[in-house]
Amino acid sequence: MPLLVQKYGGTSVGSKARIEAVADKVIAYKEQGNDMVVVVSAMSGETNRLVALAQEINPNPAGRELDVLLSTGEQVTIALLTMALHKRGYAAKSYTGIQASIITDSTHNKARIKSIDREKIQSDLDSGNIVVVAGFQGVDEQSNITTLGRGGSDTTGVALAAVLNADECQIFTDVDGVYTTDPRVVPEARRLKTITYEEMLEMASLGSRVLQIRAVEFAQKYKVPLRVLSSFEEGEGTLITTDDEADEIMEQALISGIAFNRDEAQLTINGVADTPGIAYQILGPISDANIEVDMILQNVSADGTTDFTFTVHRNDYETALASLKNTAKQLEAREVSGNNRIVKVSIVGVGMRSHAGTASRMFKLLANEGINILMISTSEIKVSVVVDEKYLELAVRALHDGFDLKSEN
Ligand code: ADP
Ligand code: ASP
Ligand code: MG
Repeated sequence: MPLLVQKYGGTSVGSKARIEAVADKVIAYKEQGNDMVVVVSAMSGETNRLVALAQEINPNPAGRELDVLLSTGEQVTIALLTMALHKRGYAAKSYTGIQASIITDSTHNKARIKSIDREKIQSDLDSGNIVVVAGFQGVDEQSNITTLGRGGSDTTGVALAAVLNADECQIFTDVDGVYTTDPRVVPEARRLKTITYEEMLEMASLGSRVLQIRAVEFAQKYKVPLRVLSSFEEGEGTLITTDDEADEIMEQALISGIAFNRDEAQLTINGVADTPGIAYQILGPISDANIEVDMILQNVSADGTTDFTFTVHRNDYETALASLKNTAKQLEAREVSGNNRIVKVSIVGVGMRSHAGTASRMFKLLANEGINILMISTSEIKVSVVVDEKYLELAVRALHDGFDLKSEN
């Protein structure tokens, strides 16, 4: 019997009526002759509510305790969905992460899945049950509850699909697929029929939250057929495929999509001695503070000194600035400055590999709108620019129009 793993996100299970609707949908797939494993998120807004509640009690909660708290959101939805399935006369069984033996490492709030015990779930499926699993949560080897990072239910879905060798992992959400850019920012954005794992990975890591990065990594590594669909309307959604499959399906577009990230901040240190080891002296303390650095820019040195600019997550801005000011004193730097009102806008497409000039076309489109570029970073299949946050919507729209993403390829 074919096996489907379906994941329903927060909005898709956001009310009693929605949970009932998901129960009907799952049953329809079951009646078509599929074995069904269903992964659910917490009801929409619940994880944010819990994070805020924690912070009201303690602005800096221990990761372990935060995970104990956050994992409750998904526990509510698995029970309610399973009850809705029972009411409809279907055998179904719910599992928390611990019960499903979703074993992770011990990195609280950002844990990685190490293994899943397939036996229990498989035997429930064999006896005709619909299996409902809590997304986003697991347990480490010392029995501590862990969570997988925001958006982590996607990764639970893909990981289950991989270990159970599912025919497809279907991510049901509030949009009917992966679009050329976030349809909430550009209403003319177009749904893609397919996108390669590689492009989806870039889109996710550059800010498109439609799929969690790790879910895409996992799907690519274990060759899990992955599809994004709407839980509100019928449709084929978007299939995430390998390069070769995508080539067969359509002529490769130059640009597949535009991603953006609002959570960026930029820091600059001016006038440091241009000597070996300087990058380490500046960025070492930042990394020791557990802050991830994204883009890095070092100016050509003038009169033996140079300037360094780098970006971090906006949440880490204050800590990074304090650390950099400290470093500046030690290095006798001329000045430290920062800007936490910047965003990153990126164009993504495997088609760029075989087309020169894509980056300059991007810069021209932004120049036409009078948008100043603060930083640039490129790879084989993406170009990212940092711009002032007030230009975000304008930049995304200008690029979407300028690269003809509205029209069908
Ligand atoms: P869920 O709660 O179902 O996991 P998310 O909010 O995590 O849903 O992800 C879906 C959202 O991702 C959409 O509502 C949309 O605003 C956003 N999004 C960002 N970029 C894209 C894109 N390129 N295509 C589709 N949706 C996108
Ligand atoms: N409930 C978690 C979150 O809001 C996990 C998820 O929805 O995927 O991030
Ligand atoms: Mg999500």
